[in-house]
Amino acid sequence: MAAVTLRCPACAIDVPWNASLLACRRCAGLLDAAMDLPRLTDDIQPLIDEGAPGVWRYRPALALPGDVPLLSLGEGRTPVVELAAWGGSHGLSQCRAKLEFMAPTGSFKDRGAAPVIASLEAQGVAKIVEDSSGNAGAAMAAYAARAGLAADIYVPAAAPSAKLAQIAQYGAAVRPVGGTREDVADAAAFAAQAPGAAYASHSRHPAFVEGTKTFVLELLEAGVDALPQHLVFPVGNGGLILGAHKALTELRQAGLRFLMPRMHIAQAAACQPLVRAFESGAAGPVAVDRRPTIAGGIDVAVPARGAAVLQAARDTGGNAVAVREDEIAATRSALARDEGLFVEGTSAAAFAAAAKLRAQGAIAAGDSVVIAATGSGLKDPPQEPA
Ligand SMILES: [Zn+2]
Repeated sequence: MAAVTLRCPACAIDVPWNASLLACRRCAGLLDAAMDLPRLTDDIQPLIDEGAPGVWRYRPALALPGDVPLLSLGEGRTPVVELAAWGGSHGLSQCRAKLEFMAPTGSFKDRGAAPVIASLEAQGVAKIVEDSSGNAGAAMAAYAARAGLAADIYVPAAAPSAKLAQIAQYGAAVRPVGGTREDVADAAAFAAQAPGAAYASHSRHPAFVEGTKTFVLELLEAGVDALPQHLVFPVGNGGLILGAHKALTELRQAGLRFLMPRMHIAQAAACQPLVRAFESGAAGPVAVDRRPTIAGGIDVAVPARGAAVLQAARDTGGNAVAVREDEIAATRSALARDEGLFVEGTSAAAFAAAAKLRAQGAIAAGDSVVIAATGSGLKDPPQEPA
């Protein structure tokens, strides 16, 4: 297996892998896992381990050390379904959804949680600490339970009760914190400094992005022609778009030839630091006043890897679009009514953004589109029956 390092993109230096190291010791910037892939020609078959469970099916593509155990709850391999009715009603004739909510804990976060917890387990950590608005906390708590690690999950005091109940059921200690989302993260980062503990941050840990790379690897398994022209992601911290961009960039460098999908950022108008940055040409997230949103999973005012998320959209010719609360709610209902898909508000924002991109002409009528349906509607249901 190829050597795995941690790379600081800002300093252009590599340091030895360390599952507890999240930031560069020189510049305090976040680190990426790095490894050379084998040379590829026509497909990704050399990167597939047929017998491995969950995301580990693509173990040779993941920049993680060889001693990391194959911790899995069967995450990944989510279905891709055509949206003939909903897509047709918005002029999207080739529109598909990848049903990420069909994951062990109900969201795409399982893709990243498995390698984060596995890498910390390999390092002998006794307790993981995470901060989350809900889905990432549930994912980290579930995989920690499976690995036999203790878990403390710091959550915003206003997080949906269904999500908190799920986290508690996995045996994790739920620690509500008042104030902003950033206050919650600060509390977790501080607690993670205790002896034997580690910060299993979904927004900072490099292994999380290694896991989310599997989203596009699954699309690619059917061949390079199976990639769509457009990928639309709901973006809070951007874990999924970062994984897609990193995977496809690495595959290109390894020699695989394919048409790069345009990667689009969807945010709620109530909290749109990356859309504002995209529009103004800023390199990183811009300061925003946030308002309440039903898209709680993307209610992130200061995404830790925001600059890399913006780069993913810009490098691929993508866009960044904000959608209003009424558009998110109407889209959530329409997806359930027209297609039988019950998604949370966060996911509905990506579909509403896809419709807007089509209306604006950024997506043409016959273009192929895959939208990430990231989280289950059961996690955060509408307050009243429609
Ligand atoms: Zn650095």
